[in-house]
Amino acid sequence: MIPLTKIIATLGPSTSSEKMISDIANAGASIFRLNFSHGSYTDHLKRIQIIRNLAHKNKTHYTILADMQGPKLRVGHFENNQVFLKQGQTFILDADKKTGNEDRVQLPHPEIFKVLKPKMNLLLNDGKIVLKVQKVTPKQISTKVIVGGELSDHKGVNVPDVILPISALTSKDKKDLKFALDANVDWICLSFVQKPDDIRLARRLIGDKAMILAKIEKPAAVQNITEIVSEADAVMVARGDLGVECPLAAVPGLQRKIIAACRLAGKPVVVATQMLESMIEAPVATRAEVSDISTAVCEGADAIMLSAETAAGKYPVQAVQTMRQVILQTQEDPDYHQYLSALRLPLDGTIACAITSSMRRMIQSLEHPACIATYSVSGRTTLRVARERALVPILGMTISEKTANQMGLIWGVVPILSKTVKHIGEIAPLAKNLAKNKKLITKGQQMIITAGYPFGHQGSTNILHIVDSD
Ligand code: PEP
Repeated sequence: MIPLTKIIATLGPSTSSEKMISDIANAGASIFRLNFSHGSYTDHLKRIQIIRNLAHKNKTHYTILADMQGPKLRVGHFENNQVFLKQGQTFILDADKKTGNEDRVQLPHPEIFKVLKPKMNLLLNDGKIVLKVQKVTPKQISTKVIVGGELSDHKGVNVPDVILPISALTSKDKKDLKFALDANVDWICLSFVQKPDDIRLARRLIGDKAMILAKIEKPAAVQNITEIVSEADAVMVARGDLGVECPLAAVPGLQRKIIAACRLAGKPVVVATQMLESMIEAPVATRAEVSDISTAVCEGADAIMLSAETAAGKYPVQAVQTMRQVILQTQEDPDYHQYLSALRLPLDGTIACAITSSMRRMIQSLEHPACIATYSVSGRTTLRVARERALVPILGMTISEKTANQMGLIWGVVPILSKTVKHIGEIAPLAKNLAKNKKLITKGQQMIITAGYPFGHQGSTNILHIVDSD
């Protein structure tokens, strides 16, 4: 069995060489994330070229995500690079560029001053420091330190209590976006999305050059989740900032809610951050971490992500291997299908829904089910089939290289380039051959094929064919 939940590896200093990227791909990562909060264009371009060459060499498709930094708020800088804030003291954030000290520091985001109100919380340094707003003027925010601690240059500031009047794409993001689209990445990840309009705006800039993944890391995005899921092509449960902006104990419940919203809508969903955090430094995971991975797999996530573990950790290959082993072991659990089918998908009365919704049942009733094959130009049929989580790999046949690369994010999908199919009689022999090439089927096993006929028309899934392999 192949892992049906996909592994995303974030690339960074630990994973820049051709050998290392090849090693983590061989270990099981098929999606690579470039984090535009770090690294130069030269670094990113080099990695993109390595990934595309490797895909060509391995006769496969890897998926490349370009993750935009987004409007991450940061304080200015300090004398001696850091200060210590004591509980109960007053601390001022202002518009003054002067070097900060124990009493004040610059907050170079004038738009924030307009929306903050007394009693709101400001969270600094990943939530380690909590400030309560006491008084706001157009150039100064006076706060009381509720939880103190060390604050150093350019640390992040989270403002969970309000929708900020800022776009999810900063001017840096717009430059990075142009670079990423010119470099032909497959997906753009938008950080700190707050509302569906953030995605609409990005879509106007991106067009059909890449798919859009919305990172859910703000309470406002959680509140608008149904509309955001409907507007985006995929979603990420970005637990790092989500766990700062929302009560930490609420994160597992939010993860379940966001995954369910995406699965109901048939949109891919990624679970991210700290999945194997201890493996940044250690070669073996903790029990809690492997349990977290297994939980995300049972909840039906399309992909799970490694961040610093592969970008800057000491054991990137072992981290990917660990994820793969936990995914495979979880799939072996006799109750795996029960976990996945706990979510009831609504029927919408269409032919496409009638076909795809029967697939899990059909797979269970076949003696030796091997895989499902889809033939889809846009990838929509494939996405619709994956929504059913039918417990077997999905051979995603497409004539479009772009679609093949993008489909790599979807649960269970093994993308493959296919020749154009015109006649109904051509599809079964072709699907059988391609499935054999990918080692998804052997003699005596069965495969279910689905597509829209006449072929090549979007949104017309209407044929279903079960074949035996010879
Ligand atoms: C997160 O906050 O969980 C996340 C994935 O975003 P980033 O790594 O860009 O902070």
